[in-house]
Amino acid sequence: MKIIDVLIERKANSLNRPFAYLYDGERNISVGSRVNVNFNHHNLVGYVIKVMDTNLSKDEIEKNSGFKYTYILDVINEEPLLNEELNLLANEMAEYYLCPLISIYQTMLPSSLKPSSSSLKGPKIYYEKYVHLLSPLEDDLTPKQIEIVRNLKNSGDLRLKDVKSQSIIKNLVNKNRIEIIKVEKPRLEIKYEDSAPEKVLTPDQNQAIKSILDSKQSVTLLEGVTGSGKTEIYLALVKEMLNANKNVIMLVPEISLTPMMIKMFTSRFKEDVAIFHSDLTNAERYDEYRRISSGKCRVVIGARSAVFAPLNNVGLFILDEEHVESYKQDSLPFYHAREVAIMRAKHFGAKVLLGSATPSLESRARASKGVYNFVRLTKRINEKALPKTSIIDLTNTNNLSNDSVIFSLPLIKALKEIFSKGEQAILLINRRGYSSYLTCRNCGHIFKCPNCGIGLTYHRANNLLKCHHCGHVEMVSDNCPKCGSTYLSKIGFGTERIVDEMNKLFPQKRVLRLDSDVKMNVNNLNKSLSQFACGEYDCLVGTQMVAKGHDFPNVTLVGVILADIGLALPSFKSAERTFELITQAIGRAGRSDKEGQAIIQTYNSRHYALNYAAKQDYEAFYSQEMRIRQVQKYPPFTYLTAIKLAAKNEALVIDFAYQLFNILAKQNFPETYLVGPITPFIPFFGGKYHREIVIKYRKKDNLFSFLSKMLIEMQKNSQIDIQFDVDTLDF
Ligand code: ADP
Ligand code: ZN
Ligand code: ZN
Repeated sequence: MKIIDVLIERKANSLNRPFAYLYDGERNISVGSRVNVNFNHHNLVGYVIKVMDTNLSKDEIEKNSGFKYTYILDVINEEPLLNEELNLLANEMAEYYLCPLISIYQTMLPSSLKPSSSSLKGPKIYYEKYVHLLSPLEDDLTPKQIEIVRNLKNSGDLRLKDVKSQSIIKNLVNKNRIEIIKVEKPRLEIKYEDSAPEKVLTPDQNQAIKSILDSKQSVTLLEGVTGSGKTEIYLALVKEMLNANKNVIMLVPEISLTPMMIKMFTSRFKEDVAIFHSDLTNAERYDEYRRISSGKCRVVIGARSAVFAPLNNVGLFILDEEHVESYKQDSLPFYHAREVAIMRAKHFGAKVLLGSATPSLESRARASKGVYNFVRLTKRINEKALPKTSIIDLTNTNNLSNDSVIFSLPLIKALKEIFSKGEQAILLINRRGYSSYLTCRNCGHIFKCPNCGIGLTYHRANNLLKCHHCGHVEMVSDNCPKCGSTYLSKIGFGTERIVDEMNKLFPQKRVLRLDSDVKMNVNNLNKSLSQFACGEYDCLVGTQMVAKGHDFPNVTLVGVILADIGLALPSFKSAERTFELITQAIGRAGRSDKEGQAIIQTYNSRHYALNYAAKQDYEAFYSQEMRIRQVQKYPPFTYLTAIKLAAKNEALVIDFAYQLFNILAKQNFPETYLVGPITPFIPFFGGKYHREIVIKYRKKDNLFSFLSKMLIEMQKNSQIDIQFDVDTLDF
């Protein structure tokens, strides 16, 4: 008889603990197996976290413990879904992120294998049928049968699909000359292109590689301006690892936005590469997952969750553009791929390489302090000058145009100039904030989403107000619902408006818009981008997604329509985000031998983040921003953890938040500061009211052991949801 502890996928806090079941069947069950259990009259999937053998009978077990037990209904997989190393990682993460273990398993496993009831209908392995030769003898065969036998002799197994006459096959099978075999086939087919010849590395690149491999520290920060040859360094290191019989996990912010990088890796390392992709179907993902865990591929490329790829013997983790915030998951378990890569690297004694032109302040501070090995590339490979950048002060009326309220005179002039030379432009509007409000000029009322409480965005194409968070849509009214005034105006603008403005100013130019409203999958996106690259459009208008990574040789002008939007958002990261965005955007101009320029429009023309970005001066920005962070006690001088509370009843969550705040305040943890309770930016969603408490601290030891005890206690209260966002970026 076995006593088995299982975790069950449940939202309720009160169920965030293992439940014990019995099993006395024949099949193997180990940690990581999945089983079917009956829970409250539901047939659910449970994830086994503990197995205990016992000689006792059910009666004896029940008598000893005083509890009633039930048997599990069925064993779904005997084989553990996660290997030992990933199980260890899950436990380390649960401790670090103060989160339920099950939420980590959910995140680690592809959805078809998740410990949830829906996964029972998941994909099956896909087999393809092949014809296999058993005997090369040709006696009593017809000429057509002999033809097939000879083909098989010459070229090996043939796909059944490709063999024309199925009746001949049938006859040959009956005569025992051939058999039909099934071969597992991944559904995803990658087309490989010829690889570009390997470059002879520059002395700087060789130096960097040597430093990364020889360093005593496992983590290296590679800070290199755009075009300094970081990608070539990644490729060389991967080759090095493969030669040393080690495997590599390479993370990129988003697969669809890094087509060049992917192409370089697949063309160089071919079937050694597996790609983890948000656009893969469940079935394709399942196949890739199995291909990786069976050791058939050695380099995994993917976005955030690829950090969990079930690869063994990893020698190197690479995070390209390590500063990008999509590496942090913004829901449970709120993990950051950088920290997880570092945790995992310890298991293998592997190296971690963090690459960026504009490192996060956290990483850069660790590199400066010597916690990370620090390698800098300061020169662009072809010694090309950076684009000429001007900051246009929108408060100066001399810069304003009579033809447009959005495009300044210098921007219009620059566009005319480059268009006359047949060159292309990228226009960027940082709409990270919800910039297009409809507001009442009389009383200041802002049209907000009834579900989320955030401002609704005006969409001109269909003349509607939309919530960018929950998708709520409403009609545009003519009157203010509060004061009745008809004096309503739209504040701010998004991509749609920029396209309109372009069409008005340059009616003969072809404009491509790219943002998350233009719902795109990877293929469409790649198609649009390559259409732009080969000149089918003159101008690309988009959100920050157009600022990243692309290489368009004919783009000689980048315009940032309004740099202030990001600065105005209340976050300790707003200056850093703006600096990074503008720096990246400027890097898009003039990648080839043509000279590039960038124009940044703003109402804050003296802001340090903009001025240092215009000069691409990371060092100066870093030191000024670090001084500000120090004074304000923000990361990297402190750590931030948000406690997120939610309840169906607003009064309850408010009351609870204050109680919790007081309990924490009484503990008097040294160098620990409490902020709150805060009403979050989006105070109501998922049918619940939300409040937050943010803790700034320098040492986590006592604080975290207190919090984890408190969490266990709180999980008994089923009316309040509690989640920890450790190392939050959202404050
Ligand atoms: P980063 O990733 O730092 O932005 P890339 O790796 O994309 O820089 O390199 C910028 C350009 O320089 C690319 O066109 C690349 O092909 C080229 N390049 C990189 N390393 C070398 C080298 N050793 N010799 C010649 N060209 C190189
Ligand atoms: Zn009003
Ligand atoms: Zn909403």
